[in-house]
Amino acid sequence: MSRPSAAERVLMGLGVSSPSEIDLEAIAYSLEAVVKFRPMDRCEATIVGNGRRAVIAVNSESIAVRRRFSLGHEIGHWHLHRNRLLLCTSKEIGNSRLGRLDPERQADDFASDLILPDYLFRPVVAKLPRVLLSNLRDVAGDFNASQTATVLKMAKTGRFPIVVVRDSVSSGRWAIPSPIVPGWWRLKSDLDPETFAYSLLHRSAAEETFPRAIGADAWFDFRGCDRYEVKEQSFQSGPDEVITVLTIPERGLG
Ligand SMILES: [Zn+2]
Repeated sequence: MSRPSAAERVLMGLGVSSPSEIDLEAIAYSLEAVVKFRPMDRCEATIVGNGRRAVIAVNSESIAVRRRFSLGHEIGHWHLHRNRLLLCTSKEIGNSRLGRLDPERQADDFASDLILPDYLFRPVVAKLPRVLLSNLRDVAGDFNASQTATVLKMAKTGRFPIVVVRDSVSSGRWAIPSPIVPGWWRLKSDLDPETFAYSLLHRSAAEETFPRAIGADAWFDFRGCDRYEVKEQSFQSGPDEVITVLTIPERGLG
């Protein structure tokens, strides 16, 4: 197992040994940051700190898993960046495609590790035979995390041969492949009308209960990809966006 991250060290230092014990307000308090929930117009959360103490405000109008991630993000700023000028007013926390050294990305990574810490998450994921929306929802519920954050973390563990793709009407596509999926599984740049995800996004189709098989060329673009089938299962992750879990077949992993 890899070295614990900064967020995991905070949790371990507090003796947190199950997902239900991850109380972010208590963690903030232990780090001398006070948390307030209030309606906010223009952003998800803010932090104001003076070196020793901080006040974190979180938008009370946001949904619960969003508030939790935003709070984790601000705790990340406080823990990692407290000697800098702290003024985070992100409109969109958790969607950064920035480099690893960017403070916003670091705060997002910290939040993800705080809410879904490896040392508690990996043992849960190790027991799952495969990724289904139903078990994704169970795990997300246990950790009080969004399905999006949970499925991204699942991809990163390398337990399953999956690629997680987010397609949004307004902001396009990004994807996180599991480290066990070879790089030649190159995604297309746009959502193909043949895919189920397209029907979910543009034709208001209902979610499928189980992953279904589809020709790999609906999703990928590489020489010979029409000789493979992948499994596709999608869910709506926002008003204009869907997340798809693609499972790569065994013989495509060599
Ligand atoms: Zn921030």
